[in-house]
Amino acid sequence: MDLGFHPYSKSNQLAGHQKEKDTPKFKVQKPRKNRKPKSNKNVEMFHNRKVPHWKQRDAVNRKTANQTLRFYGEACAICGDPNYQLHHIQHKGYGIGGRGVWRNLVPLCELHHTGAEGVHTIKAFDQFWKDKHDKLFGPHYFKDRWDLWMEGLIENPTEELYEKFMQSQERR
Ligand SMILES: [Zn+2]
Ligand SMILES: [Zn+2]
Repeated sequence: MDLGFHPYSKSNQLAGHQKEKDTPKFKVQKPRKNRKPKSNKNVEMFHNRKVPHWKQRDAVNRKTANQTLRFYGEACAICGDPNYQLHHIQHKGYGIGGRGVWRNLVPLCELHHTGAEGVHTIKAFDQFWKDKHDKLFGPHYFKDRWDLWMEGLIENPTEELYEKFMQSQERR
């Protein structure tokens, strides 16, 4: 029995490959791309106040969702299917994008949301909801308190001033 230590197979030793094998291999590092210095993109400043990132402002929280559901009921606003998704009437996005505010949301089933008869499929249906909420809640229905404040429509971005303004816009 051979219990000796053989780091290399006999054939390798005989072939004289030691030198190559012992040479450590260095990974060739790819040159790093010139990166811009990191800035905090989650904070936007306006008149010395921090405005939350639009992604945050587009998100729907439970309170907001419940307000929409209180208005429309817990079902698709078109066919009454209890399996609904909350659709942003004015689509999410940077700048003038629709926010996650209850007046910008409507519960829709899959068919009437992203399906064949959906707002994301048929442009006229998309417009239908935009027109409807414009009539119900006024032209600022998709905005949040930060939008109204930055547009100079309210003095401060508070929930209270926001609601007061929005209620003044309702033409029912
Ligand atoms: Zn439906
Ligand atoms: Zn949608």
